[in-house]
Amino acid sequence: MPSNNASNGSPHTTKPAPTPSPLRASKFFQSNMRILVTGGAGFIGSHLVDKLMENEKNEVIVVDNYFTGSKDNLRKWIGHPRFELIRHDVTETLLVEVDQIYHLACPASPVFYKHNPVKTIKTNVMGTLNMLGLAKRVGARILLTSTSEVYGDPLVHPQPESYWGNVNPIGVRSCYDEGKRVAETLMFDYHRQHGIEIRIARIFNTYGPRMNIDDGRVVSNFIAQALRDEPLTVQAPGTQTRSFCYVSDMVDGLMRLMEGKHTGPINIGNPGEFTMLELAETVKEIVNPKVEIKMVENTPDDPRQRKPIISQANESLGWEPKVKLRDGLPHMVEDFRQRLGLPKN
Ligand code: NAD
Ligand code: UDP
Repeated sequence: MPSNNASNGSPHTTKPAPTPSPLRASKFFQSNMRILVTGGAGFIGSHLVDKLMENEKNEVIVVDNYFTGSKDNLRKWIGHPRFELIRHDVTETLLVEVDQIYHLACPASPVFYKHNPVKTIKTNVMGTLNMLGLAKRVGARILLTSTSEVYGDPLVHPQPESYWGNVNPIGVRSCYDEGKRVAETLMFDYHRQHGIEIRIARIFNTYGPRMNIDDGRVVSNFIAQALRDEPLTVQAPGTQTRSFCYVSDMVDGLMRLMEGKHTGPINIGNPGEFTMLELAETVKEIVNPKVEIKMVENTPDDPRQRKPIISQANESLGWEPKVKLRDGLPHMVEDFRQRLGLPKN
Protein backbone atom coordinates (compact mmCIF):
# COMPACT_ATOMS: atom_id res chain seq x y z
CA MET A 1 0.00 0.00 0.00
CA PRO A 2 1.45 3.42 -0.90
CA SER A 3 2.80 5.31 2.10
CA ASN A 4 1.04 8.25 3.62
CA ASN A 5 0.97 10.59 6.61
CA ALA A 6 4.68 11.34 6.25
CA SER A 7 4.06 14.89 5.07
CA ASN A 8 0.52 15.57 6.21
CA GLY A 9 1.68 17.84 9.02
CA SER A 10 -0.60 18.02 12.01
CA PRO A 11 -4.27 18.19 11.14
CA HIS A 12 -4.61 20.31 14.28
CA THR A 13 -4.18 24.03 14.33
CA THR A 14 -2.68 26.25 17.00
CA LYS A 15 -4.70 29.22 15.74
CA PRO A 16 -7.78 30.12 17.74
CA ALA A 17 -11.04 29.79 15.78
CA PRO A 18 -12.43 33.13 14.49
CA THR A 19 -14.92 34.69 16.89
CA PRO A 20 -18.56 34.06 16.03
CA SER A 21 -21.15 36.83 16.14
CA PRO A 22 -21.99 38.18 19.65
CA LEU A 23 -25.58 37.19 18.95
CA ARG A 24 -24.53 33.56 19.43
CA ALA A 25 -23.91 34.24 23.13
CA SER A 26 -27.09 36.28 23.55
CA LYS A 27 -29.59 34.69 25.92
CA PHE A 28 -32.63 35.79 23.96
CA PHE A 29 -31.44 35.17 20.46
CA GLN A 30 -34.36 33.51 18.73
CA SER A 31 -32.57 30.62 17.08
CA ASN A 32 -29.70 28.45 18.31
CA MET A 33 -28.22 27.91 14.90
CA ARG A 34 -28.28 29.67 11.58
CA ILE A 35 -27.27 27.08 9.05
CA LEU A 36 -26.28 27.63 5.44
CA VAL A 37 -26.66 24.70 3.03
CA THR A 38 -25.04 25.32 -0.36
CA GLY A 39 -26.47 23.03 -3.04
CA GLY A 40 -29.50 22.57 -0.78
CA ALA A 41 -31.91 22.26 -3.71
CA GLY A 42 -30.14 19.10 -4.88
CA PHE A 43 -30.64 15.47 -3.99
CA ILE A 44 -28.66 15.07 -0.74
CA GLY A 45 -28.96 18.76 0.17
CA SER A 46 -32.76 18.77 0.18
CA HIS A 47 -32.91 15.69 2.44
CA LEU A 48 -30.41 17.38 4.76
CA VAL A 49 -32.59 20.50 4.84
CA ASP A 50 -35.65 18.39 5.78
CA LYS A 51 -33.75 16.96 8.75
CA LEU A 52 -32.29 20.31 9.86
CA MET A 53 -35.72 21.95 9.69
CA GLU A 54 -37.13 19.34 12.10
CA ASN A 55 -35.26 21.15 14.87
CA GLU A 56 -37.24 24.27 15.80
CA LYS A 57 -34.08 26.00 16.95
CA ASN A 58 -32.55 25.91 13.46
CA GLU A 59 -32.86 28.59 10.80
CA VAL A 60 -31.85 27.25 7.40
CA ILE A 61 -30.61 29.27 4.43
CA VAL A 62 -30.19 27.45 1.11
CA VAL A 63 -28.13 28.86 -1.75
CA ASP A 64 -28.31 27.11 -5.10
CA ASN A 65 -27.92 27.99 -8.77
CA TYR A 66 -30.38 25.21 -9.80
CA PHE A 67 -27.92 23.64 -12.25
CA THR A 68 -28.91 20.14 -11.15
CA GLY A 69 -31.17 21.01 -8.22
CA SER A 70 -34.76 22.16 -8.17
CA LYS A 71 -37.01 24.36 -6.03
CA ASP A 72 -39.47 21.51 -6.15
CA ASN A 73 -37.22 19.53 -3.78
CA LEU A 74 -37.76 22.26 -1.17
CA ARG A 75 -41.38 23.12 -1.87
CA LYS A 76 -42.59 22.19 1.60
CA TRP A 77 -40.28 24.78 3.19
CA ILE A 78 -40.76 27.73 0.83
CA GLY A 79 -42.53 30.44 2.85
CA HIS A 80 -41.61 28.90 6.21
CA PRO A 81 -40.38 31.58 8.67
CA ARG A 82 -37.24 29.62 9.58
CA PHE A 83 -36.32 28.95 5.94
CA GLU A 84 -34.80 31.10 3.20
CA LEU A 85 -33.93 30.17 -0.39
CA ILE A 86 -31.44 32.25 -2.39
CA ARG A 87 -30.61 31.79 -6.08
CA HIS A 88 -26.86 32.21 -6.00
CA ASP A 89 -23.80 30.73 -7.62
CA VAL A 90 -21.08 29.85 -5.09
CA THR A 91 -18.37 30.96 -7.52
CA GLU A 92 -19.50 34.49 -6.53
CA THR A 93 -18.95 35.87 -3.03
CA LEU A 94 -21.80 35.58 -0.55
CA LEU A 95 -22.49 37.75 2.48
CA VAL A 96 -24.72 36.06 5.05
CA GLU A 97 -24.52 35.69 8.84
CA VAL A 98 -24.47 32.03 9.81
CA ASP A 99 -23.07 29.64 12.44
CA GLN A 100 -22.63 26.51 10.33
CA ILE A 101 -22.07 25.89 6.63
CA TYR A 102 -22.83 22.60 4.91
CA HIS A 103 -21.02 23.09 1.59
CA LEU A 104 -22.55 20.70 -0.95
CA ALA A 105 -22.84 22.87 -4.07
CA CYS A 106 -21.37 20.88 -6.98
CA PRO A 107 -22.93 18.61 -9.58
CA ALA A 108 -22.37 14.97 -8.54
CA SER A 109 -23.41 13.02 -11.64
CA PRO A 110 -20.55 12.40 -14.09
CA VAL A 111 -22.81 13.39 -17.00
CA PHE A 112 -23.39 16.82 -15.43
CA TYR A 113 -19.94 17.52 -14.01
CA LYS A 114 -18.34 16.62 -17.37
CA HIS A 115 -20.81 18.84 -19.26
CA ASN A 116 -18.90 22.01 -18.38
CA PRO A 117 -15.65 20.86 -16.76
CA VAL A 118 -14.21 24.35 -16.37
CA LYS A 119 -17.31 25.40 -14.45
CA THR A 120 -17.01 22.26 -12.30
CA ILE A 121 -13.46 23.24 -11.33
CA LYS A 122 -14.58 26.81 -10.61
CA THR A 123 -17.40 25.52 -8.43
CA ASN A 124 -15.05 23.30 -6.46
CA VAL A 125 -12.16 25.72 -6.14
CA MET A 126 -13.68 29.22 -6.17
CA GLY A 127 -16.87 28.01 -4.53
CA THR A 128 -14.98 26.39 -1.66
CA LEU A 129 -12.69 29.43 -1.32
CA ASN A 130 -15.71 31.70 -1.08
CA MET A 131 -17.38 29.51 1.53
CA LEU A 132 -14.14 29.32 3.55
CA GLY A 133 -13.83 33.11 3.36
CA LEU A 134 -17.37 33.37 4.65
CA ALA A 135 -16.63 30.87 7.45
CA LYS A 136 -13.58 32.92 8.43
CA ARG A 137 -15.46 36.24 8.52
CA VAL A 138 -18.38 34.99 10.62
CA GLY A 139 -16.59 32.31 12.68
CA ALA A 140 -18.73 29.49 11.28
CA ARG A 141 -17.93 25.79 11.23
CA ILE A 142 -17.84 24.45 7.66
CA LEU A 143 -18.42 20.92 6.37
CA LEU A 144 -17.34 19.96 2.84
CA THR A 145 -19.00 17.07 1.02
CA SER A 146 -15.97 15.56 -0.65
CA THR A 147 -16.12 12.25 -2.45
CA SER A 148 -14.77 8.75 -2.82
CA GLU A 149 -13.58 10.01 -6.23
CA VAL A 150 -10.56 11.48 -4.43
CA TYR A 151 -9.32 7.85 -4.36
CA GLY A 152 -9.59 7.76 -8.19
CA ASP A 153 -9.29 4.23 -9.59
CA PRO A 154 -8.09 2.85 -6.26
CA LEU A 155 -5.19 0.44 -6.03
CA VAL A 156 -6.05 -0.20 -2.38
CA HIS A 157 -9.30 -2.00 -1.70
CA PRO A 158 -11.39 -1.31 0.32
CA GLN A 159 -10.45 2.33 0.82
CA PRO A 160 -9.34 3.79 4.17
CA GLU A 161 -9.12 7.56 4.66
CA SER A 162 -5.33 7.28 4.83
CA TYR A 163 -5.12 6.19 1.17
CA TRP A 164 -3.90 9.02 -1.08
CA GLY A 165 -5.57 7.73 -4.19
CA ASN A 166 -4.79 6.95 -7.82
CA VAL A 167 -6.20 9.88 -9.78
CA ASN A 168 -5.65 10.84 -13.41
CA PRO A 169 -4.87 14.58 -13.26
CA ILE A 170 -5.71 15.27 -16.93
CA GLY A 171 -8.66 12.99 -17.65
CA VAL A 172 -12.32 13.75 -18.27
CA ARG A 173 -13.23 13.09 -14.62
CA SER A 174 -10.37 15.24 -13.28
CA CYS A 175 -12.47 18.42 -13.09
CA TYR A 176 -14.45 16.71 -10.34
CA ASP A 177 -11.81 14.45 -8.76
CA GLU A 178 -9.02 17.01 -8.68
CA GLY A 179 -11.53 19.78 -7.94
CA LYS A 180 -12.60 17.98 -4.78
CA ARG A 181 -8.98 17.20 -3.88
CA VAL A 182 -8.12 20.92 -4.08
CA ALA A 183 -11.25 21.69 -2.07
CA GLU A 184 -9.99 19.34 0.67
CA THR A 185 -6.57 21.05 0.52
CA LEU A 186 -8.17 24.47 0.89
CA MET A 187 -10.18 23.27 3.88
CA PHE A 188 -7.04 22.08 5.68
CA ASP A 189 -5.02 25.17 4.75
CA TYR A 190 -7.74 27.48 6.12
CA HIS A 191 -7.88 25.29 9.21
CA ARG A 192 -4.12 25.42 9.84
CA GLN A 193 -3.59 29.03 8.74
CA HIS A 194 -6.74 30.68 10.10
CA GLY A 195 -8.10 28.28 12.73
CA ILE A 196 -11.35 27.65 10.82
CA GLU A 197 -13.38 24.75 12.23
CA ILE A 198 -13.60 22.26 9.39
CA ARG A 199 -15.29 18.93 8.72
CA ILE A 200 -14.69 16.81 5.60
CA ALA A 201 -16.95 13.93 4.57
CA ARG A 202 -15.82 11.60 1.80
CA ILE A 203 -19.16 10.49 0.44
CA PHE A 204 -19.52 7.18 -1.40
CA ASN A 205 -22.30 6.59 -3.98
CA THR A 206 -25.60 7.65 -2.47
CA TYR A 207 -29.11 6.92 -3.76
CA GLY A 208 -32.72 7.59 -2.81
CA PRO A 209 -35.85 9.56 -3.66
CA ARG A 210 -35.42 12.95 -5.44
CA MET A 211 -32.46 11.89 -7.54
CA ASN A 212 -32.85 13.43 -10.98
CA ILE A 213 -34.64 10.84 -13.10
CA ASP A 214 -32.39 11.30 -16.12
CA ASP A 215 -29.22 12.40 -14.39
CA GLY A 216 -27.09 9.55 -15.71
CA ARG A 217 -26.07 8.00 -12.40
CA VAL A 218 -26.38 4.27 -12.31
CA VAL A 219 -29.15 3.68 -9.76
CA SER A 220 -31.40 6.41 -11.18
CA ASN A 221 -30.72 5.20 -14.73
CA PHE A 222 -31.56 1.57 -13.99
CA ILE A 223 -34.76 2.38 -12.08
CA ALA A 224 -36.01 4.82 -14.73
CA GLN A 225 -35.17 2.32 -17.49
CA ALA A 226 -36.92 -0.56 -15.68
CA LEU A 227 -40.04 1.56 -15.13
CA ARG A 228 -40.08 2.66 -18.77
CA ASP A 229 -39.55 -0.91 -20.01
CA GLU A 230 -36.25 0.09 -21.61
CA PRO A 231 -33.11 -2.11 -21.44
CA LEU A 232 -30.88 -1.54 -18.38
CA THR A 233 -27.64 -0.11 -19.78
CA VAL A 234 -24.74 -1.80 -17.98
CA GLN A 235 -21.51 -0.09 -19.00
CA ALA A 236 -18.79 -2.62 -19.86
CA PRO A 237 -17.38 -4.70 -18.34
CA GLY A 238 -20.13 -4.71 -15.69
CA THR A 239 -17.75 -6.21 -13.12
CA GLN A 240 -16.81 -2.75 -11.80
CA THR A 241 -18.12 -2.28 -8.27
CA ARG A 242 -19.74 0.44 -6.21
CA SER A 243 -21.10 0.62 -2.67
CA PHE A 244 -24.49 2.30 -2.32
CA CYS A 245 -25.61 4.29 0.71
CA TYR A 246 -29.26 5.24 1.28
CA VAL A 247 -29.77 8.98 1.61
CA SER A 248 -31.20 8.97 5.17
CA ASP A 249 -28.06 7.18 6.40
CA MET A 250 -25.93 9.73 4.54
CA VAL A 251 -27.72 12.71 6.12
CA ASP A 252 -27.37 11.15 9.56
CA GLY A 253 -23.62 10.72 8.97
CA LEU A 254 -23.17 14.30 7.75
CA MET A 255 -25.00 15.78 10.74
CA ARG A 256 -23.02 13.65 13.21
CA LEU A 257 -19.81 14.78 11.55
CA MET A 258 -20.82 18.45 11.77
CA GLU A 259 -21.77 18.13 15.46
CA GLY A 260 -18.80 15.94 16.41
CA LYS A 261 -15.21 16.82 17.26
CA HIS A 262 -13.38 15.30 14.29
CA THR A 263 -12.20 17.27 11.28
CA GLY A 264 -12.09 14.18 9.06
CA PRO A 265 -11.71 13.39 6.26
CA ILE A 266 -14.14 10.62 7.17
CA ASN A 267 -15.59 8.07 4.75
CA ILE A 268 -19.38 8.00 4.82
CA GLY A 269 -20.83 5.20 2.77
CA ASN A 270 -22.31 1.74 2.89
CA PRO A 271 -19.68 -1.01 2.63
CA GLY A 272 -22.09 -3.39 0.84
CA GLU A 273 -20.31 -3.80 -2.52
CA PHE A 274 -22.04 -4.72 -5.80
CA THR A 275 -20.93 -5.18 -9.40
CA MET A 276 -22.99 -3.18 -11.89
CA LEU A 277 -24.32 -6.45 -13.29
CA GLU A 278 -25.48 -7.47 -9.80
CA LEU A 279 -27.14 -4.08 -9.39
CA ALA A 280 -28.92 -4.48 -12.74
CA GLU A 281 -30.13 -7.97 -11.75
CA THR A 282 -31.42 -6.63 -8.42
CA VAL A 283 -33.29 -3.72 -10.04
CA LYS A 284 -34.71 -6.10 -12.66
CA GLU A 285 -35.97 -8.47 -9.96
CA ILE A 286 -37.50 -5.71 -7.82
CA VAL A 287 -38.95 -3.45 -10.53
CA ASN A 288 -39.51 -5.30 -13.78
CA PRO A 289 -38.51 -8.99 -14.17
CA LYS A 290 -39.18 -8.83 -17.92
CA VAL A 291 -36.75 -6.04 -18.69
CA GLU A 292 -33.63 -6.71 -20.77
CA ILE A 293 -30.06 -6.05 -19.54
CA LYS A 294 -27.85 -4.60 -22.28
CA MET A 295 -24.05 -4.15 -22.23
CA VAL A 296 -23.00 -0.72 -23.56
CA GLU A 297 -19.69 1.09 -24.00
CA ASN A 298 -18.14 2.65 -20.90
CA THR A 299 -16.68 6.14 -20.41
CA PRO A 300 -12.94 6.79 -19.76
CA ASP A 301 -11.33 6.41 -16.34
CA ASP A 302 -14.28 4.61 -14.77
CA PRO A 303 -13.04 3.37 -11.35
CA ARG A 304 -13.01 -0.43 -11.28
CA GLN A 305 -13.79 -0.87 -7.60
CA ARG A 306 -15.02 1.16 -4.70
CA LYS A 307 -15.88 0.25 -1.14
CA PRO A 308 -15.39 2.34 2.01
CA ILE A 309 -13.74 1.31 5.24
CA ILE A 310 -16.04 2.99 7.76
CA SER A 311 -14.35 2.14 11.05
CA GLN A 312 -13.46 5.82 11.64
CA ALA A 313 -17.06 6.97 11.20
CA ASN A 314 -18.12 4.14 13.45
CA GLU A 315 -15.62 4.90 16.20
CA SER A 316 -15.59 8.70 16.15
CA LEU A 317 -19.21 9.43 15.16
CA GLY A 318 -20.98 6.29 16.37
CA TRP A 319 -22.31 6.02 12.81
CA GLU A 320 -23.08 3.08 10.60
CA PRO A 321 -25.54 2.71 7.72
CA LYS A 322 -28.84 1.01 8.55
CA VAL A 323 -30.62 0.68 5.20
CA LYS A 324 -29.71 -2.24 2.94
CA LEU A 325 -29.84 -1.79 -0.85
CA ARG A 326 -32.87 -4.07 -1.19
CA ASP A 327 -34.75 -2.05 1.44
CA GLY A 328 -33.78 1.36 0.06
CA LEU A 329 -34.49 0.72 -3.63
CA PRO A 330 -38.30 0.35 -3.27
CA HIS A 331 -38.57 3.87 -1.76
CA MET A 332 -36.78 5.27 -4.75
CA VAL A 333 -38.91 3.24 -7.17
CA GLU A 334 -42.07 4.61 -5.55
CA ASP A 335 -40.77 8.19 -5.84
CA PHE A 336 -39.87 7.67 -9.52
CA ARG A 337 -43.28 6.11 -10.22
CA GLN A 338 -44.99 9.16 -8.78
CA ARG A 339 -42.84 11.61 -10.69
CA LEU A 340 -43.22 9.68 -13.95
CA GLY A 341 -46.99 9.57 -13.43
CA LEU A 342 -47.05 5.75 -13.29
CA PRO A 343 -49.58 3.87 -11.14
CA LYS A 344 -48.51 2.61 -7.70
CA ASN A 345 -47.23 -0.93 -7.70
P1 NAD B 1 -26.92 17.20 -6.88
O1 NAD B 1 -26.40 17.47 -8.23
O2 NAD B 1 -28.30 16.63 -6.73
O3 NAD B 1 -26.86 18.50 -5.97
C1 NAD B 1 -25.88 19.50 -6.12
C2 NAD B 1 -26.56 20.84 -5.93
O4 NAD B 1 -25.58 21.88 -6.09
C3 NAD B 1 -27.63 21.12 -6.98
O5 NAD B 1 -28.79 21.61 -6.37
C4 NAD B 1 -26.99 22.14 -7.91
O6 NAD B 1 -27.94 22.96 -8.55
C5 NAD B 1 -26.11 22.89 -6.94
N1 NAD B 1 -24.97 23.57 -7.58
C6 NAD B 1 -24.10 23.07 -8.49
N2 NAD B 1 -23.19 24.00 -8.82
C7 NAD B 1 -23.47 25.11 -8.08
C8 NAD B 1 -22.91 26.40 -7.99
N3 NAD B 1 -21.84 26.75 -8.72
N4 NAD B 1 -23.49 27.30 -7.15
C9 NAD B 1 -24.57 26.98 -6.43
N5 NAD B 1 -25.16 25.77 -6.48
C10 NAD B 1 -24.61 24.85 -7.29
O7 NAD B 1 -25.85 16.24 -6.19
P2 NAD B 1 -25.91 15.44 -4.82
O8 NAD B 1 -25.92 14.00 -5.14
O9 NAD B 1 -26.98 15.98 -3.93
O10 NAD B 1 -24.48 15.78 -4.23
C11 NAD B 1 -24.31 16.77 -3.24
C12 NAD B 1 -22.85 16.84 -2.83
O11 NAD B 1 -22.39 15.56 -2.39
C13 NAD B 1 -21.90 17.27 -3.96
O12 NAD B 1 -20.92 18.11 -3.40
C14 NAD B 1 -21.28 15.97 -4.41
O13 NAD B 1 -20.00 16.17 -4.94
C15 NAD B 1 -21.22 15.18 -3.11
N6 NAD B 1 -21.22 13.74 -3.37
C16 NAD B 1 -22.36 13.09 -3.76
C17 NAD B 1 -22.32 11.73 -4.03
C18 NAD B 1 -23.57 10.99 -4.43
O14 NAD B 1 -23.49 9.77 -4.68
N7 NAD B 1 -24.72 11.60 -4.49
C19 NAD B 1 -21.12 11.03 -3.92
C20 NAD B 1 -19.97 11.72 -3.54
C21 NAD B 1 -20.04 13.07 -3.25
N1 UDP C 1 -23.05 2.78 -15.06
C1 UDP C 1 -23.71 1.80 -15.78
N2 UDP C 1 -24.84 2.14 -16.45
C2 UDP C 1 -25.35 3.40 -16.45
C3 UDP C 1 -24.68 4.39 -15.72
C4 UDP C 1 -23.53 4.05 -15.02
O1 UDP C 1 -23.31 0.63 -15.80
O2 UDP C 1 -26.39 3.61 -17.11
C5 UDP C 1 -21.86 2.39 -14.30
C6 UDP C 1 -20.64 3.28 -14.52
O3 UDP C 1 -19.86 2.76 -15.58
C7 UDP C 1 -19.92 3.15 -13.19
C8 UDP C 1 -21.03 2.90 -12.17
O4 UDP C 1 -22.18 2.55 -12.93
O5 UDP C 1 -19.08 2.02 -13.20
C9 UDP C 1 -21.38 4.10 -11.32
O6 UDP C 1 -21.58 5.21 -12.16
P1 UDP C 1 -22.25 6.57 -11.66
O7 UDP C 1 -22.29 7.48 -12.82
O8 UDP C 1 -23.53 6.27 -10.96
O9 UDP C 1 -21.28 7.12 -10.52
P2 UDP C 1 -19.70 7.14 -10.30
O10 UDP C 1 -19.52 6.25 -9.13
O11 UDP C 1 -19.00 6.62 -11.51
O12 UDP C 1 -19.41 8.56 -10.02
